[in-house]
Amino acid sequence: MEVAMVCTRVNLLLLILSLCSPYKFIQSPMDFGPLNLLPTTTEASSDFGRILFHSPSAVLKPQSPRDISLLLSFLSASSLSKVTVAARGAGHSIHGQAQALDGIVVDMCSLPSQIEFYRGGEGDISYADVSGGAMWIELLEQSLKLGLAPRSWTDYLYITIGGTLSNAGISGQTFKHGPQISNVLQLEVVTGRGETVTCSPTKDAELFNAVLGGLGQFGIITRARILLQEAPLKVKWARAFYDDFGTFTKDQELLVSMPDLVDYVEGFIVLNKQSLHGTSIAFPANMGFNPDFGTKSSPKIYYCIEFAVHDYQHKNTNVDQVVEAISMQMSHMGSHLYSVEVSYFDFLNRVRMEEMSLRSSGLWEVHHPWLNMFVPKAGISDLRDLLMDNISPDNFEGLILIYPLLRDKWGTNTSAVLPDSGSTDQVMYVVGILRSANPEEGCSHDCLQELLRRHRHIADTAGVRLGAKQYLAHHPTPAGWHQHFGPRWERFADRKVRFDPLSILGPGQGIFAKGN
Ligand code: FAD
Repeated sequence: MEVAMVCTRVNLLLLILSLCSPYKFIQSPMDFGPLNLLPTTTEASSDFGRILFHSPSAVLKPQSPRDISLLLSFLSASSLSKVTVAARGAGHSIHGQAQALDGIVVDMCSLPSQIEFYRGGEGDISYADVSGGAMWIELLEQSLKLGLAPRSWTDYLYITIGGTLSNAGISGQTFKHGPQISNVLQLEVVTGRGETVTCSPTKDAELFNAVLGGLGQFGIITRARILLQEAPLKVKWARAFYDDFGTFTKDQELLVSMPDLVDYVEGFIVLNKQSLHGTSIAFPANMGFNPDFGTKSSPKIYYCIEFAVHDYQHKNTNVDQVVEAISMQMSHMGSHLYSVEVSYFDFLNRVRMEEMSLRSSGLWEVHHPWLNMFVPKAGISDLRDLLMDNISPDNFEGLILIYPLLRDKWGTNTSAVLPDSGSTDQVMYVVGILRSANPEEGCSHDCLQELLRRHRHIADTAGVRLGAKQYLAHHPTPAGWHQHFGPRWERFADRKVRFDPLSILGPGQGIFAKGN
């Protein structure tokens, strides 16, 4: 064992020398003792956004958290090295956040994804201990076998636990249970110094809070303890349509004020036929809504609220009656409320159906110039106008999500950034422009750059005028990041000095230069 460790250290030194050299030595798999270090792969140089392609010099496929600790302790001890390291989950970032130009990408999905469950008795909590590289879909599949499930989700489940906890992890349940970072009891983290620390709100709380929403800057999450609840068997899933934005948001706010009845609230802008039908594969019941979209010069747009009610069956609640009672209080267009009942698994896994459909028509692996923002309630109507000034409904491919969240479900000590709370209003909105740009349909380099320019204009204007903050943020300069964090910058920078003083981690975010 000792001999293997010495070999690993010698080989790591060789690795660093090779990474710092103008010539790239790693052309084929190298023997780094117990470390599984490979030459770069196409996968490690790209992501879902397909906008940036930064090639690392090597990819570590860790077999255990110890491999990650070995790498980081070695790099932090050899302080002359300029080598950076990025954890890569499922690579579903947009702007190269999990990339490491000329550095090392740690492929978190190669960690064995062990999941262990603790089932609490009456009045006690249940949780799962799960590898940071496991995907949410794996946790869902395993926990459902016990009749349990996490409380807070993302819309898409083929992304990793560590990847979403490094951002926030939001979906239609967030108004009720908070983001995924509010539903974690404990983390195992390998810091930028290479130390492996088990942290929680009561033990090494500063590291725990730093890493949640920490954009991969302070440590690599190797294990997380996720809070579970009893899983419903089925879900009643409803869609209601609107032709007035104010009525749409008023009804969304009504729904999030009823957490005892409602389990999920989202919404989207119905810009054109594609944005209606492209989101309805899993929801055939809304086919009765065939509105007039007007003309190119005078377009008409609509809005759709989605809400859901869990059906526990044994609880003797008639979910049809619950949906009926809720809808009586809403002000949607005439009879345009549709509902279906689906299994809880199919409901949570709904985006997978869209993915399969897009994949089959070659529309999944295209550019994704996405922009997500948190917008204060007071600015949501202006934000809608800003969107409409910058988006043409007739050629928009994708989805524009808009739904409310409640501030008090977010901890104030994590690294996640929300708009400043200028008023006492609990409500803020998430707005996601989830756009596809297909080179095969004429959107290649110049067109993509124009879309990115427009999105930057929207983000900058919404930031200055409305106090919006980007979610899954991308800022091309460190100054942009300072502005993003605002009064929270000092705490974020102090945490960096404490947990990753050589700025080894997370180079793809572009927040800190190595050696800062
Ligand atoms: P990656 O892209 O691999 O990494 C993201 C960042 O986290 C990088 O900085 C990386 O270095 C860091 N990182 C990764 N793993 C770790 C780790 N173990 N420890 C520390 N740092 C780590 N987000 C939502 O909140 N809600 C949604 O509904 C939602 N839907 C989505 C749907 C689709 C189709 C896609 C493509 C994305 C969606 N996202 C959503 C965004 C998604 O949550 C983020 O992109 C997330 O980072 C993806 O996880 P990943 O495993 O792919 O992370």
